[in-house]
Amino acid sequence: MNCDQRKNWITNLWTKIEEKDGDFFSLIGVDCYPFSATPEIESLDSLRYLCTFSDIHLNMPPTTLAPRDGLIKEVHLKQEWEGKISLKIILEHQTPIKVNINKACPNQIILTLDRNPLRKIIQDKLIVIDPAHGGNDSGSISPTSLQEKEVTLDLARRAKTLLEAYQGQVVLLRNQDKQVPLQRKINQVKSISPDLLISLHTGEDPMGRIIGPRTGFTGISSNRQQRAELMQRALFQKLIFPNGGVFKTTDPLMQIHPDKSLMVEISNITSRLEEGWMRDDGFKTIMAQGIFNGIKTILKNQDRFS
Ligand SMILES: [Zn+2]
Repeated sequence: MNCDQRKNWITNLWTKIEEKDGDFFSLIGVDCYPFSATPEIESLDSLRYLCTFSDIHLNMPPTTLAPRDGLIKEVHLKQEWEGKISLKIILEHQTPIKVNINKACPNQIILTLDRNPLRKIIQDKLIVIDPAHGGNDSGSISPTSLQEKEVTLDLARRAKTLLEAYQGQVVLLRNQDKQVPLQRKINQVKSISPDLLISLHTGEDPMGRIIGPRTGFTGISSNRQQRAELMQRALFQKLIFPNGGVFKTTDPLMQIHPDKSLMVEISNITSRLEEGWMRDDGFKTIMAQGIFNGIKTILKNQDRFS
């Protein structure tokens, strides 16, 4: 902290998602010290806000955050000139912004963005998630005995929680460590008409190479490939490295509604590096948000694919 008490300083920038009375908000926090500061907010277009702070200095490097939380793409904070700081906010969906100031040490300028546009996309959509394997069928096993069936169920539950927060209707084809016969899964999927089916697996590679998340689609339709690429981009944007790309699969479960089905390989379980990621709670949180973002983007663009 710079100790010059004659000036006012911005000392931190952060984002998070907050729930209040069943509604969800993306918060952007700008911490400042010793005084609070009220920004002027200008809408540059439907997806960009510019917040300008006066008589204040940056006591941190110019900073870009990329929360990719389904609503906020990026936030850029920089000193424009002496005493003038800009905060540019780039969104995926149009939404109002509110400013609150918490007087504390440091003072917090809280910019609150309503995540209701996500609810409009996800609400009442039927999403089927298959956490592949289970029970006696462990799926692939990592070099230190992490089982695919554990990873797929964990990720499926996390994705379900995120989708249900926006009133998505989520069906898990198993919700415990139990083997569900393929024919029973096929019958269940045939009896419903999902907006999207996600088959969750981990990848495996005999050489144990680093591959990263991959997205599979079935058949040769360019629409199906484009849908897979949207999911893959959402995963890659959360992880940045590595990008396993999209691939074709002949998985029988995905043949029932081939235009609505994708396979997500969360990561390569036979890579020692990626195995470690899949044991990590932070990695699983990031991947669940990536899957959520991919589902949301596909649902928003589904008219393009029909
Ligand atoms: Zn598998």
